[in-house]
Amino acid sequence: MQIRTVIFATGNPGKMREVREILSDLDARVMSMREAEAFCEPEETGTTFEENALIKARAVAEKARGLWPGLLVLADDSGLEVDYLHKKPGVYSARWMGEDTSYRLKNAAIVGLLEGVPDEERTARFVSAIAAVFPDGTEAVVREAVEGIIGYEERGENGFGYDPIFYLPELGKTSAEIPMEEKNKISHRGKALRRMEEVIRAYENRHRQ
Ligand code: IMP
Repeated sequence: MQIRTVIFATGNPGKMREVREILSDLDARVMSMREAEAFCEPEETGTTFEENALIKARAVAEKARGLWPGLLVLADDSGLEVDYLHKKPGVYSARWMGEDTSYRLKNAAIVGLLEGVPDEERTARFVSAIAAVFPDGTEAVVREAVEGIIGYEERGENGFGYDPIFYLPELGKTSAEIPMEEKNKISHRGKALRRMEEVIRAYENRHRQ
């Protein structure tokens, strides 16, 4: 069954822009879950990024079943893994210290927990998993990451979340000190989306009449 509609399970306009750009070559209509009238926010009960991305993609696929022809549902889950903190906050990145706690406080807490820890033990990564439920019901998940180290203070005004303390050694800047377009080129989510695009192309090639 060919892909004619894509729903990306997010309410975030920034993510939708990125998804539309990367999937623009597909011959399919790309919609957010609100546009597709398939909004849902299932509990993210998984212990891995992959599980949570699949939970979201399956829930939206279920909700949108029968509404759209040739439907591909995509969902992502991402977060920050700090090696010294045993990969925390990980899948709890948004919820860590409370969903409503400011990132100024969360970032200060992480820097505080790493006080006195040398550079080589400050390794961390942003991870993004993207799950797909294809029109024939088959599923796929990809995972990508961008490696960095936890800085000693917040730096930069761009980006969001943990960006100001995520230092990219090759660029000599934090993720909040580079422009958004540059970040999208190297980001975990950009990398995962481009990998998923290849998986989608392979599906299309298999299902071409
Ligand atoms: P989500 O799964 O994309 O909603 O991301 C979950 C959480 O991970 C966000 O609320 C942020 O705390 C963190 N996160 C994910 N990606 C980034 C990023 O690119 N920069 C900073 N924080 C991020």
